[in-house]
Amino acid sequence: MIRIVTLERLDPTDLAFLTGTLYRAFGVGTEHAGDRHLPADAEGKDGRVDAIRLLKDAPPVRSLPDDKVLYITSAPLSLPKGPLGEPPCWGFAEFGGERAVISTSRLPARGVTEASIETWRKRLAREAIHALGHTWDLHHCYDARCAMHPSWSQGLAERPEMELCTFCREKSERKIRLAKT
Ligand SMILES: [Zn+2]
Ligand SMILES: [Zn+2]
Repeated sequence: MIRIVTLERLDPTDLAFLTGTLYRAFGVGTEHAGDRHLPADAEGKDGRVDAIRLLKDAPPVRSLPDDKVLYITSAPLSLPKGPLGEPPCWGFAEFGGERAVISTSRLPARGVTEASIETWRKRLAREAIHALGHTWDLHHCYDARCAMHPSWSQGLAERPEMELCTFCREKSERKIRLAKT
């Protein structure tokens, strides 16, 4: 089961699109576990939220072993600096773990037209699939059309697809099947 926790209210139609898309992507039941507050002092001095700390301190939700919990925040996220500086952060996941977080702060503006809202929803779903994919042990994928292609990649389309490539999909299916038995 995938449990979505919103750290700010999300439009119910956006949520419905997201739960349906995640269910189709992983074949795993997906539900909204409700709204929660950002953990106190998760916010750093620069107004961004430390992604690793957020996952560590995030309000718990009732979950069973093998459940995944996806937090969604509008706050910009920060990550520790790597050898190439700080990587831009759309989201962060515990690799092979339970929790992931994505931020809407780097998404294109949602706007008010049907087209802009659809673009926004698809991008949100892509980042959700990407982050959850890491919790099922998926690595980054070279296929620029795959949801596991890095979000910071130069090769990413302006409106990237939200599906997994066959390789990543089959790998996640194997992992999910194993978890069920
Ligand atoms: Zn990634
Ligand atoms: Zn892939």
